[in-house]
Amino acid sequence: MSWTRRRCLRAGLGLGLGAVAGCILPDRPGPDVRHPVFPLGPMPPARGSQGILRVGAAAVDITPPEGSPVWLAGYGFERPMMRVHDRISARALYLDDGVRRVALVVADVVGLSLAAAARVRQLVGPEVAVVVASTHNHQGPDTLGYWGPAILHAVPAETGIRPGYQRGLERRLAQAVARAAWSARPARLAAVEARVPPGRVKNLRDPDDVPETMLVLQARSLSGAPIATLVNAACHPETLGDRARLLSADFPGPLRDALEAGGGGVGVFVNGALGGMLTAAVPDEADVQERLTFARAMGEALAGAALGAVSGAPTLPGPTPVALVTAPVELAGGSDLYAFLERTGLVEAPARGPGGGLMTEVGRLSVGPVAFGVMPGEPTPRVGRQVQAVLREAGFAFTGVVGLGDDELGYLLDPAQFDDPAFGYEVSVSPGRGAAPALTAALSEIHSKR
Ligand SMILES: [Zn+2]
Repeated sequence: MSWTRRRCLRAGLGLGLGAVAGCILPDRPGPDVRHPVFPLGPMPPARGSQGILRVGAAAVDITPPEGSPVWLAGYGFERPMMRVHDRISARALYLDDGVRRVALVVADVVGLSLAAAARVRQLVGPEVAVVVASTHNHQGPDTLGYWGPAILHAVPAETGIRPGYQRGLERRLAQAVARAAWSARPARLAAVEARVPPGRVKNLRDPDDVPETMLVLQARSLSGAPIATLVNAACHPETLGDRARLLSADFPGPLRDALEAGGGGVGVFVNGALGGMLTAAVPDEADVQERLTFARAMGEALAGAALGAVSGAPTLPGPTPVALVTAPVELAGGSDLYAFLERTGLVEAPARGPGGGLMTEVGRLSVGPVAFGVMPGEPTPRVGRQVQAVLREAGFAFTGVVGLGDDELGYLLDPAQFDDPAFGYEVSVSPGRGAAPALTAALSEIHSKR
């Protein structure tokens, strides 16, 4: 997340909220978003046989209707959607080894809480274990609640979540999983570390720490035709900037389009360790049109590099067992900002553990020699490397990070970064100094317990 008005926000935290609410709040967006009924079909029965990998993939549109009252998420408060520039979607990848059925669904939104992920899992049902992630799109609807109406544009006063949209979104994510499962067929996988094209991503905090590689995973039918291509790269989808009032998928949209146009099957983009602060290398002075052009070129360049690298990669030798293992983690501490937003009811109250800390979850999604650490927020690149080291230690040859996986708790920093003034903003929007170590330790225990 990025708040360009964060100083206003933090200054505003000291204001009495109730005294001035109601008289200076904007009246747009107005009524709730109305979606057409979206039927949720049944999950297919288990059809796999042990030792045979089956893979399916699907895309489901999650664009709010043009003209509907939606607050855009990710920068300052009360940014209304003025029009739809390009459509947003959710992408699901389904993996079934005949014993276990696992899915990853990724939505073009700013983030989804653990509670929202739990509702999606409930809609899917117990047969399929699901990771619910977000691309961290800064041109999509508010799905966390932070970006709604604010007093003097500074003190948040109402949730930015439109309940009608949110309910429809959660059903669509479950539907994406079901569609991916129905489409599953025998498959083989190819995995490769591809080079991130230079000049597309920059690190605002540590300019020398820009990831040079991205993990690319491709599922192919037994005849060799790609079913899906997944790109796991790290960058904030905030290319369009805070002045844009457009609904857009940002660079992940053209990235997936280019994967599909290039014959990669269903395109899936999974954001990685993007925190503190990987963002598009678009010039600061660029206007919205130039930013749209940059986002398109960036998406196409990443897709081109991914397809170029994976197309020559051999399929992985079997067997390719599938697993999703999750572990609950209680996080002590957190920022004053979180406590404030929680007290106001702007965001859905998270579960609390026996020690009073935030309850969240860490996970490991694996298929054969490929594993992803599922992190409930925005790990910095340094924390991302720690996650990958844990996975390599557990024996996985290809490792990735699912950022904003099953929760969005803000920035996940290495403890040393808490003492670095360059990370002042990230520290203010973080679940605490001990969060990343607790999560990586829990991820490590997943291996040692098995
Ligand atoms: Zn962010």
